[in-house]
Amino acid sequence: MQLQITWSPESAAPLAFAAGELRRYLAQMLPQEGGPLEISLAAEGEDTAPERFSVHMTAEGGAISGSGPRAALLGGYDYLRRLGCRFLGPGEGWEKVPAIDRSRLAADYEKTASFRHRGVCIEGADSLENILDFIDWLPKAGYNSFFLQFKLPYAFLERWYRHEKNPLLEPEAYTVDDAARDTEVLEAAAKKRGLLLHRVGHGWTGEVLGYPALSWKPDERPLEASKRPLAAQVDGVRGLRGGVPANTNLCYHSAQAVDAFASLVVDYARSHPAADYLHIWLADEYNSVCECAGCVKTTVSDQYAALLNEIDRRLTAEGLETRLVFLLYQELLWPPVQERLRNPDRFVLMFAPISRTFEASYCLEGAPREIPPFARNRITLPTDLGENLAFLRGWQKVFSGESFVYDYPLGRAHYGDLGYVHIAQVIGSDIKKLRQMGLDGYISCQELRCALPNALPNYVMGHTLLDEGADTEELIDEYFTAAYGERAGAVREYLGALSRLSSCDYVNGKGSRTNPDMVRRMEEAVETVRAFASEPGESLPWRLLAYHGRYVCRMAEALRRLAMGDRAGGREAWLALRKLITENEREFQPCLDVYRVLEVTEKYTGFGA
Ligand SMILES: [Zn+2]
Repeated sequence: MQLQITWSPESAAPLAFAAGELRRYLAQMLPQEGGPLEISLAAEGEDTAPERFSVHMTAEGGAISGSGPRAALLGGYDYLRRLGCRFLGPGEGWEKVPAIDRSRLAADYEKTASFRHRGVCIEGADSLENILDFIDWLPKAGYNSFFLQFKLPYAFLERWYRHEKNPLLEPEAYTVDDAARDTEVLEAAAKKRGLLLHRVGHGWTGEVLGYPALSWKPDERPLEASKRPLAAQVDGVRGLRGGVPANTNLCYHSAQAVDAFASLVVDYARSHPAADYLHIWLADEYNSVCECAGCVKTTVSDQYAALLNEIDRRLTAEGLETRLVFLLYQELLWPPVQERLRNPDRFVLMFAPISRTFEASYCLEGAPREIPPFARNRITLPTDLGENLAFLRGWQKVFSGESFVYDYPLGRAHYGDLGYVHIAQVIGSDIKKLRQMGLDGYISCQELRCALPNALPNYVMGHTLLDEGADTEELIDEYFTAAYGERAGAVREYLGALSRLSSCDYVNGKGSRTNPDMVRRMEEAVETVRAFASEPGESLPWRLLAYHGRYVCRMAEALRRLAMGDRAGGREAWLALRKLITENEREFQPCLDVYRVLEVTEKYTGFGA
């Protein structure tokens, strides 16, 4: 078979990449004999979102074209999926590439992505390879965006290379210069696929105070006297909140603070033209905003909107088109009273219901809720989904530009779901409600090493964002069939049972720690694992499933003892879990973020010493 894929050589890089991908997979799938197969790949123009692509193919060849180069790449992967390829997760061991004959090639369809924003934001502890594998997987699963947090994603890389929380691995050196070099590699990988890049977010406030904006770590250097007036005054004192620059707010009444903040953003936008979306966030802790005489006259959100307007004014003056993303969470959930964003086209609203429950999907029923009054440094975060939505509605009354949700099912909450079926269903259901909520997409703030027992949640997320009409149960069946073959039904039943016994909220510290119902459920979870006869197969999904069974037994035992009210016993059982996962981290490194699961269960679940 002579496989010829043509594309316009002067077109953007993602088209050449798409041609290479199609060639690679089709060569594996099709028989060697047979006449020539010619496929033309085309992009109608520059990339826009949401993307549109069309596939017109016969057994002799045809055309795949996209509204832009990235759209053509998404179209190529979508066509391969239609031919039976399954991209079940990032990295090795997750691909199913079937052998097919030429007659299967015929297809004639068009698709437009359901949402403009479809992406993942880095969290956890990640090697360079982990992140590259994830970037490679994103368009295969229908995504179009990736978010590297902070000015450099140093914190996440350093956690892995230093092997934080795994004393059994020898720490490796990793510097900020290493992160700068690795970030260039990551940016190039994202741009090769035409992905939209989001940058920064946290860290600006610390940098205004003279600290590098690269992590949430405390900084021992004292706050310079000249910077002190720029820091928020809390309980009469201006200083670092808990010693952590990234968690420290500024006095947004200070013209000097606003000027320094705006200058930093403009400098960054000017020197980083590859950043499509620049996130402008304040401190990552709440109830520590400034209480000076100037600040108390207004709200934090009014000051935030004024700061954003100033940044926009300066970017416009410089002719920079970088889009700015502003964040609705903590104090900023309360909409501004007077200030309005003057140039809405510059801005994207990002709604981050960080404190929501994951026991259920977004709730749009019932009477609209009221926003509680704003009480400076005495706010409580809404867990209730109706209350979360009240804040979104409040902002939507004053801002009607582009928007998306920034959500956390796979950052923390997923550790509470021992089967991953429940969290996948919540994700599918949430995405199907986005349109009704007036939101145009979803960026998932999450661990990248998030595939124990499998990467089903991210699979459902990506494919539902691309096509909101996709049936969640069918996607789950498709996934299990590809991963587990003939025993897909039994595995689905097994993992579904573990999900039903699990509680995302309990593991995330919500509710009483003593909980007789959890005791019973965790006993049943262990019985469920023991009763499931996992046939140890050689493929990654099967090896992982066997390991997952051991992991669930240890996790469930620790949770059972904690829920009995036996904190010391819970800690002891948690140490046994830690032993298992630190000893096996190398073998299952891409699938379980040992750093993160230990951090979450120590800090939130209640296994701390
Ligand atoms: Zn102030």
